[in-house]
Order: sequence, then structure tokens, then C-alpha cells
Amino acid sequence: MKKAVLKQSATLPDAVDGKKRATYRVLVLNAGSSSLKFAVFTGFGHRTKLVRVLSGNIERIGSSTSIFTLKHHNDLPTEHTTISAPNHLRGLTYLLKHLAGIGVTDFAAVGHRVVHGGMRYHEPQRVDRAMLTELRRIRVFDPEHLPAEIALMEFFVKKSPRVPQIACFDTAFHKKMPRVAKLLPIPRRYAAKGVQRYGFHGLSYAYLMQELKTLDGSAAKGRVILAHLGNGASMAAVRAGQSIDTTMAFTPAAGLVMGTRSGDLDPGLVAFLARSEKLTAAQFDKLVNHASGLLGVSETSSDMRDLLAREAKDVRAAEAVALFCYTAKKQIGAYAAALGGLDTLVFAGGIGENSSASRARICAGLDFLGIKLDKTRNAESTPVISAKTSMVTVRVIRTDEELMIARAISENLDLHLTTQI
Ligand code: ADP
Repeated sequence: MKKAVLKQSATLPDAVDGKKRATYRVLVLNAGSSSLKFAVFTGFGHRTKLVRVLSGNIERIGSSTSIFTLKHHNDLPTEHTTISAPNHLRGLTYLLKHLAGIGVTDFAAVGHRVVHGGMRYHEPQRVDRAMLTELRRIRVFDPEHLPAEIALMEFFVKKSPRVPQIACFDTAFHKKMPRVAKLLPIPRRYAAKGVQRYGFHGLSYAYLMQELKTLDGSAAKGRVILAHLGNGASMAAVRAGQSIDTTMAFTPAAGLVMGTRSGDLDPGLVAFLARSEKLTAAQFDKLVNHASGLLGVSETSSDMRDLLAREAKDVRAAEAVALFCYTAKKQIGAYAAALGGLDTLVFAGGIGENSSASRARICAGLDFLGIKLDKTRNAESTPVISAKTSMVTVRVIRTDEELMIARAISENLDLHLTTQI
């Protein structure tokens, strides 16, 4: 693993516990297909506590108006601004200018969530020319995410070449899945070209497993299903801390029903739509990534909250929610079989963390697997939502991909900064 020694100029002298020590500040970027989440952390020395000072998001990148949200992790009010961000780079430029305006500059390092590491990149590591060349080569694996992520890394290579950048790959968590889980049932020659199940949401899953280990060490060694249910949704089956299967596959469009992504589909649909509607590959890609899932079925919204509010009056909304929950329930059954039983089920992501109605519907009827929710705990989203009599412990854990990236930065950089001033 490559190490980088930070320049002293990147340090920000500060007081910690009454003692003067050198601190550093890092920027974390988490680019989605139409969003750019960000966070600024300060750290004090190597592998020590990281403090989140700012976080936020630029949403609706690529549409006529984008929404910039900046949360100060102190008493200052959250800022909401409408901005123009036709692409991620313009969003980043706005963000850096805005941060400079409030005195937040001099980043000691920048960390990125990189959705796809292909066959070559797994553990967090420093961005260099070779990595950028490989990511450009595999851009076609995930044209939804990789081009924007590469553009952000190239921006810093050009503008701040001395600032180290750390790439954290979402595929890493699933690297050691058994071969049978990785193989796709198509002619073998494609596997040699890298066509296989990779799986995603790896930073979130790694965080959830770290948290589970802290909460219940023996549970983390057992049979676990992690359900990350947000706009993007996936599940992972984990045994003894090791991912053995996951629903997303070669791209993040596979698996569960999502906000705008279809998840798994009948492969025959591709030829049918090509014949009947002359749909091109690009149009099909757009259909299954941006116009399907909750949005496609409801015809109104990709947002679970909206659909739950509307389901009593709109059968399309009710069907979209039902399909989402039914697909997730079936997957829990499948992974319980793959794991040979189940000890812990963890809900995370915007829907998993906040929507008691979705969790209740997903778990309904799974008593035969030992899953029994406690109504009150589920309604209150307490850390454990299963009943005392439930064989399976069902948990809600707030995931934190940005913290995982900040930790990766601090672990990958030799921060010779502790005894300044
Ligand atoms: P992303 O995958 O973009 O990070 P999130 O993890 O933020 O998305 O999840 C967004 C989803 O979570 C949306 O469908 C949103 O409606 C849903 N959600 C957030 N809070 C609630 C809530 N209280 N009840 C139901 N759904 C919720």
C-alpha cells in the first residue's frame, strides 16, 4: 500500500484538550449519478479521532437547477441554495469556492468513493496515473458513476497535484465472495473480460459490520444480512464477517427494486423492446437506470416517503411500495438459504433507517425464519427492533460512508503532524 507524507503546509494548528497540536482537514467526496455528497473532517494526528465539521449534498446535478445543502456541525444553521451544476465538476467548483468563502481551505487530502474498482483495485489507495488509466478503461462497466468520479479526481490532479487523493472502492467489500456468487451464467469468455458479479455499497457494508462488531462481537461473526435500502438499494449476505453474496452485480442496476432502477429483470426484455420499440442500448440503459423502479411503477415519484403518503389514494403508488417490499422479503429468504440460517438482519439507508412501514412489510410473515419485529421499537426506529422472542436480532444502524472514507484517508497517510507549536 502506498503511503504519502503530507506537507506541513497542509496542517492547521489548533488546540486539542487544551494542548496545542497540529491538526489536519480532509475533504470527502461521494459522487452519485446525479448527486455529490461531501463532508469535511478534521483529525488530530495519525489514526486518531476524526471530527466531522461540515457535510452536505448537491442534488439534481444535470437538471436545470441543482440544490446545494451545507450542514454545519455546530450551532450555525444549515444552508440551502439553488445553484447551477450541469455536471459534477461544476458542482465541485461551486463547493470549493463556497468553502473558501467560509475559510475552509488547505485540505491535507481528498478522499473519494469510487463505485467500481474493476478486477484490479480493491483496498483504499492513493490515486495515481495508473489508477486513472485503468478507471478510464473500465468506464464502460459503469457509465452511470465512473465518468464523474474520474473527472473529480482529475480536477485535483491538475489543480492541486501536491494534495494526496485516496480512492475508496465500493466493490472491495465483496472481493472475496465465493466464485459461485461471482459467476454470471453467460458464456465463459465474458468472465475473462471482467464480466462478473462485483457488488456495490461496500463502504456502507464495511461500516455496518464495524458498528455491529462494536455492538455485538459474536453477532458480527455469525450469519448476517445487511439491507442497504436507499434510492439505490441492495442486500449482502455476510458469514463470519465475509460477504458471500450480494444483490447488485456487474453494475448497480441489478438486484432489488430501487428508486429509479429496475433491479433484476427478465433478460428477454432487451430483445423484445429492441424489436417492438426499436429501443437502442443507450435508451434501454436509461430506461432501467432512470425511469424504472419505484418511479416507473408509480408513474409519480422515486421517493418512498412520497409514495407512502399517497398509497391510500393511488393504486400505482401502493403497487410500487408493495413490489419494493415483496422483492426485499424474497431476497431475505434467499440469503437465509445461502447462509444456512440467519442470526442478524440489519436495516440501513434512507428507507431502512427511517421507514418503519417498509421494514414492517418486508419482515411480515418471516416468523418461520425466526424474524419477529417489536411494533413499538420498529415504530421508534430503536437500534434493535426485533421482539424479545425473535430468534433473529433485527437492527437499525445509521450508515456512514463518508466516515469510512475519512478513516481510510487517515489510515493511508503518514500524518507526521502531532507535535506542532
Ligand atoms: P441515496 O441512495 O441517494 O443515498 P438515501 O439513503 O438518502 O438515498 O435514501 C433515500 C430514500 O429514503 C428515499 O426514497 C426517501 O423517501 C427514503 N426515506 C427517507 N426518510 C424516510 C422516511 N421517514 N420514511 C420513508 N422513507 C424515507
